[in-house]
Amino acid sequence: MIIRKRFLFKGTVQGVGFRPFLWRQARENALVGFVRNRSDGVIAEVEGSAPAIAAFLEQVKRRLPPLAYITGIGEEEIPPAGEDAFIIAESEGNVPGDLHITPDIATCEACLAEFSTPEDRRFRYPFINCTDCGPRLTIIDALPYDRSRTSMSCFPMCPSCRKEYENPADRRFHAEPNACPDCGPRLELLDNDGRSIAANDPVDRTLDLLRRGSILAVKGLGGFHLCVDGSNDGALKDLRSRKFREEKPLAVMVRDIAAASLLSEIGDVEKRLLLSPERPIVLTRRREGVPVSALVAPGMDTLGIMLPYTPLQHLLLAGDLPILVMTSANQTDEPICIGNREALRRLRGIADAFLVHNRDILVRCDDSVAMVAGDAPFLLRRSRGYAPKPITLKKSYPEVLALGPQIKETVCILKRNFAFLSPHIGDMETPEARDFFHENLALMERIAECRPALIACDLHPGYYTSRFAREMQGRDVVAVQHHHAHIVSCMAENHIEGEVIGLAMDGTGYGSDGQAWGGEFLIADEEKFDRRGHLRYLPLPGGERAVREPWRMAAALLREVFGVDWIEAARRLNLYPDGNSIPPGRKAETADEALSRLERVMNSGIQSPQTSSLGRLFDGVAALAGLRRRVSFEGQAAMELEALAKGRTDIRLPFTIRTDSSDSRTPHPGNLESRILDLLPAVRTIAEVLLASRPRAEIALAFHNLLPEAFRAMAETIRSEAGLNRVVLSGGCFQNRLLLTGCLVSLREAGFEVFHHRLVPTNDGGISLGQAVCAGAKNRKGLTR
Ligand code: ZN
Ligand code: ZN
Ligand code: FE
Repeated sequence: MIIRKRFLFKGTVQGVGFRPFLWRQARENALVGFVRNRSDGVIAEVEGSAPAIAAFLEQVKRRLPPLAYITGIGEEEIPPAGEDAFIIAESEGNVPGDLHITPDIATCEACLAEFSTPEDRRFRYPFINCTDCGPRLTIIDALPYDRSRTSMSCFPMCPSCRKEYENPADRRFHAEPNACPDCGPRLELLDNDGRSIAANDPVDRTLDLLRRGSILAVKGLGGFHLCVDGSNDGALKDLRSRKFREEKPLAVMVRDIAAASLLSEIGDVEKRLLLSPERPIVLTRRREGVPVSALVAPGMDTLGIMLPYTPLQHLLLAGDLPILVMTSANQTDEPICIGNREALRRLRGIADAFLVHNRDILVRCDDSVAMVAGDAPFLLRRSRGYAPKPITLKKSYPEVLALGPQIKETVCILKRNFAFLSPHIGDMETPEARDFFHENLALMERIAECRPALIACDLHPGYYTSRFAREMQGRDVVAVQHHHAHIVSCMAENHIEGEVIGLAMDGTGYGSDGQAWGGEFLIADEEKFDRRGHLRYLPLPGGERAVREPWRMAAALLREVFGVDWIEAARRLNLYPDGNSIPPGRKAETADEALSRLERVMNSGIQSPQTSSLGRLFDGVAALAGLRRRVSFEGQAAMELEALAKGRTDIRLPFTIRTDSSDSRTPHPGNLESRILDLLPAVRTIAEVLLASRPRAEIALAFHNLLPEAFRAMAETIRSEAGLNRVVLSGGCFQNRLLLTGCLVSLREAGFEVFHHRLVPTNDGGISLGQAVCAGAKNRKGLTR
């Protein structure tokens, strides 16, 4: 008997070769009918015997193409229609639902083989792609995913390309960005006035310029890169001064794993990450004496490496420049450039020439950044290659739009059991970044196909995102405390529910008491938290300025430890170096002047808020150890302290835990008290050891040994009172590999079940997910009105 069934496949099923795949399975089982894209998924109607249809469905589930991912299959029986073939039908628009747009995927092996074959018609063609690889998110204008709704719509296919595109047996069947040298996009080299530079081969000419030390702006997948020869000090010096990025580490691109292994130690997990179709920048341990300019990552023992992910990058790396610096093309803290004209305008004065093409980038997407700690990969920035693939949650939530924090900004939409996280937006300090934020809100509402009535934002009243939340008319707003959001974000990706002990170790976030939190021990579940402990409050002399000038934090530490004698200790430790490293435009101060001025600031208490931040304590200890009096980006001092922590030490740093007598919270059932973890005894020892001229590497190591031990003691105290055994680690400090692995070991030894981030950044890039889940959970319990 002949029957007919209609299947609706949901998930990542468009732009991944899913329709030709279904076509092959249908043909194999002698079924007739059709398959078509819809904006909520892929519809297939198949007609034939019941066993043949069952076999078809079985094969679909088992043989799924590499990039496809099914989240649900709808099935219904309908009357037979009596066709005589199985066809791939036109797309059908306007059915709202849940389609998952695929991220951009690195050039696949099959395409690379053609690309390297002189007889192939796409030999060295910089835009070669197929159903298994190439641009996706960054060229999509609207759904469903079809060439007409991408930036390829202005390139009519030539007969050869069309033949491939229409042949279900071909690897390029319905590969929407399909193109060749006859019909597709092309490269052009421009000078910094936007005039074309005549060249037989723009790539060869580009390599010429790079060899001479020029800075090139190169159009990539999700934006422009600034590119220089990674072994040329002069070029790097120019790049750093023109980009105002004095010291922040830059990433390099090398040809292959062999080339990466020459520069860094590449283990199995690093190798897998580097070669993955997402192609993130991977932070690796740099080898000594490699031919990378010291200006690439000054002061760091790590090196960010990525492998080529576009055909153009393969061409650039095929020449005689084995190490290219590839950094997002922007001025520090601004979003990455995508348009040719935009690049010419914004990068004027930075780039000497522009290697562009005429395929528009429609969505900005920075490179993702990953690292390996223990044996596990972690994402530090989740962007190109990953976004906008949703994070799957354990259960469904009401729709929420979370606006994120302020730095390392991302936004997140929650829809049913999916969390759609935006590409990396960056720091919301410039008008460009705020425009990009709004671009992303629109993009994510388009991708998730919803406009949530519930908004989540940070508790900080002064953040741009919080102010914007209050201006949104007719939507309910839930403000989520920063460190609660960190913990919930980690719980969400780990699919855990119920109360946990949350360790939020961070830079700073606005606390419920108005102070700058950042070393928090919470008992938390999705919708609420209880602050059961925190690092001892310390003054943050000069507020935000203390973040850029860690010597201020070090001074605050000395003052807490030595009282009025602190200035003498500060002098002996050379805390404020005379004369040098004064920012331009500020008058030089002697060390004594600077120290007494700081004394006045701390005495007045004005501009000297209290902070429990572990990140600031790291800064202070690094500055005490003579590493950094000033930093050019947040976390720099702490990163250098981590790099210094090598060898062995017999120094054990002391700490104390005491009850918080200032605790003004409403009495807790069972009268549980909150605790203060006081690390000042450790700071006193550090200062004394430094004054006695012990090697600072020992201090760095001892400090990294202290924290896991102290955290474990705090967690054990909370466990004994609250009976909780799960510990969740989140916050920017856990980007520190030593700290993270140290905590995992010490907490597991004590019998705790420990959870940390893998898919979502542990830094503020993961905050929007926590905000969204918290608001969604509150809403479900009717707590948002
Ligand atoms: Zn391919
Ligand atoms: Zn063509
Ligand atoms: Fe944070």
